[in-house]
Amino acid sequence: MLILISDAFDSTLPQLLSKYGEVTDDKGRVAEAEVVLIRSKTKVTKEYIDSAPNLKLVIRGGVGLDNVDQDYTKTKGIVVHNTADASTTAVAELAFAMIIALPNHIAKADQSMREGKWIKKELKRTELYGKTLGIIGMGRIGTALAVRARAFRMKVLAWHPDVYFSDFAEIRPTLKEVMEESDYMSVHMPLLDATRGLINKEMLAHCKKSAYIINTGRAGCVNEEDVAQALKDGKLAGYATDVWLSDPPDGSPLFDAPNTLFAPHIGASTKENMTRIGQIADKIIFDYVNK
Ligand code: NAD
Repeated sequence: MLILISDAFDSTLPQLLSKYGEVTDDKGRVAEAEVVLIRSKTKVTKEYIDSAPNLKLVIRGGVGLDNVDQDYTKTKGIVVHNTADASTTAVAELAFAMIIALPNHIAKADQSMREGKWIKKELKRTELYGKTLGIIGMGRIGTALAVRARAFRMKVLAWHPDVYFSDFAEIRPTLKEVMEESDYMSVHMPLLDATRGLINKEMLAHCKKSAYIINTGRAGCVNEEDVAQALKDGKLAGYATDVWLSDPPDGSPLFDAPNTLFAPHIGASTKENMTRIGQIADKIIFDYVNK
């Protein structure tokens, strides 16, 4: 059995998986591969699947499966797994790091010191204590973030189309209500037809002018043009994102907008998460081999 590790995983993974067969990171051997491990970079499209006639199992290290054509894998009898539970802590911690960094101007303070500037009077901080965080998509990561925000004594709201109760947040029946009430909004939805471009001009019109949006979910859930315009017009205080329409982005209207904070899709990239993803991948292949 040939196992192709197509994207970046923990460096110990090839050794861990070698008990099942040959392990390679040579993408040119996709036609021979029975198992392919991907993260978000490799796109398992119809063309990719057609180029891999021996493929039986795709393991997506991480959560989102929007880079896998699941309709087509089904027609080919290819099983697709993600490692859904592994990344929760890593992404929730990055989202919370961005929530802390924004009102404390961490990036700007650091940059100004390196440029030899002393902008103590310009950097007016605000506190998270007593502020309202709206969580958009109250699944694993949204819930983990809610726990952290409550420890900071934030009021936590959430909107979710099919969740009516949570121990960790007050559920609002509509996204509009969460946007109206929140000082911070954190996006944790999967990218689906129903969520594509959901945070757009119409929704942004409901935000407080002082509100911040943090996106560690998917870039496609947000209309970047509309967010950039809202920032330029002073209708939104700030936007932080880890996620992009492509990795790396081929330009973005956000690059010219004020009060932004960016990361290069590192939500899942903790050492601990890479270890967990490897352990789960090992178990998935064990079950596949012993089915
Ligand atoms: P999850 O499935 O536990 O939670 C997502 C929640 O969104 C689900 O509860 C789902 O029911 C809900 N949802 C579904 N349709 C919706 C809709 N139409 N409107 C609003 N909510 C809807 O997943 P999770 O583990 O919490 O991950 C959430 C997302 O985070 C993933 O889908 C992925 O896109 C993203 N993610 C990003 C990174 C990163 O590196 N930045 C890493 C992992 C996951």
